[in-house]
Amino acid sequence: MALSQGRPYLAIPGPSVVPDRVLNAMHRAAPNIYEGEIIELTARALDDLRRVAFSTSHVAIYVGNGHAGWEAAAANVFSRGDRALAVMTGQFGINWANALRRMAVEIETLDFGRRSPADPAKVAAALGRDKGHTIRAVLVTHVDTASSVRNDIAAIRAAIDAAGHPALLMVDGIASLGCDEFRMDDWGVDVFVAASQKGLMLPPGLGIVWFSDKAREASRRADWRTPYWDWEPRVFGPNFSNHFCGTAPTHHLFGLRESLAMILDEEGIENVWARHRVLAGAVWAAFEAWSGGSDIEINIAGRAHRAHAVTAARLGGGNAGRLRQWCEQEAGITLGVGLGMALSSEPAYQDFLRVAHMGHVNAHMTLGVLAAMQAGMVALGIAHGPGALEAAAAVVALAG
Ligand SMILES: *Cc1c(COP(=O)(O)O)cnc(C)c1O
Repeated sequence: MALSQGRPYLAIPGPSVVPDRVLNAMHRAAPNIYEGEIIELTARALDDLRRVAFSTSHVAIYVGNGHAGWEAAAANVFSRGDRALAVMTGQFGINWANALRRMAVEIETLDFGRRSPADPAKVAAALGRDKGHTIRAVLVTHVDTASSVRNDIAAIRAAIDAAGHPALLMVDGIASLGCDEFRMDDWGVDVFVAASQKGLMLPPGLGIVWFSDKAREASRRADWRTPYWDWEPRVFGPNFSNHFCGTAPTHHLFGLRESLAMILDEEGIENVWARHRVLAGAVWAAFEAWSGGSDIEINIAGRAHRAHAVTAARLGGGNAGRLRQWCEQEAGITLGVGLGMALSSEPAYQDFLRVAHMGHVNAHMTLGVLAAMQAGMVALGIAHGPGALEAAAAVVALAG
């Protein structure tokens, strides 16, 4: 007998669950890429990508993942030897900065560790020290998927303005778009990077970059603007093939159109954010109950600084690893590994896990994950505080 039989649930923070509707929209014959439906549909998808990011800026789609989006953004902004200020609050912020270092961008770091959000005052102070205005951009990860911290992007913008500094604000929203509230124009973001396989509910394969007129102006002198990454023809080129520097990712575009219709036209982006907020709250309530008198702890202490897309937690003594394995083998649910929380030693790595509540997720899925985790804790003899499932159910009940 195996209780894992049935529909499996990949509850990791990307790739996320792809709705059957999106899969079905992709399940069709290859289209003509020179004229017809795909061209029309892509124009609408680009408009919808602006809507979903609350942006009036330009949007370029790349065949690639989030790392490709990072590289695309960097190639259009930086020249070799340029300087950037990297605001780090977890492994993804660190990796982004390292990718830029490989592109000969000189990185100044503001590292806030793996358990707290960025302090805008420190960003303002760092920019204030840059009297010659040589820092070209400030890099911030909105939601760092490894630590599950959420940074206050509007406050970082205000800090840049308070310092009177002309640096571009570049934001990694790969984990947050379509999960946590994000407003590109209102928050003064110049370059925004996302990918298809998280809140947009598609398979991996698209890296997406939004850029403001100010960023476009800055890109004119960027010496990394190589043919594939150059965002100019992708947005302003005369032909559909310019927009993708070759063959378009046709089936991803069919899927994207469907997922954006679900998000924007059917559920509504504010409702999407609210759903993520409630489901995150249910997960937090469960963890807070489990943590009573046990070695279980949510990574980010302050609720206001926690992502609504993913929750990272510590279950000491290697229990996170044991619980992940139990949930996958015995309950058909795959939880996320602890990423970059303790890479140095294998036992500590097994002390962290992440629960995704990202994208196409509803109350029964999240409550199911929590109930399976509780069953696993009982089965494995992992000490945990009482009342977690009641607390999570109450969050769902009160949201209605
Ligand atoms: C997933 C993720 C990335 C990397 O995206 P890939 O598609 O794996 O390259 C970068 N930043 C954040 C915040 C992410 O969540």
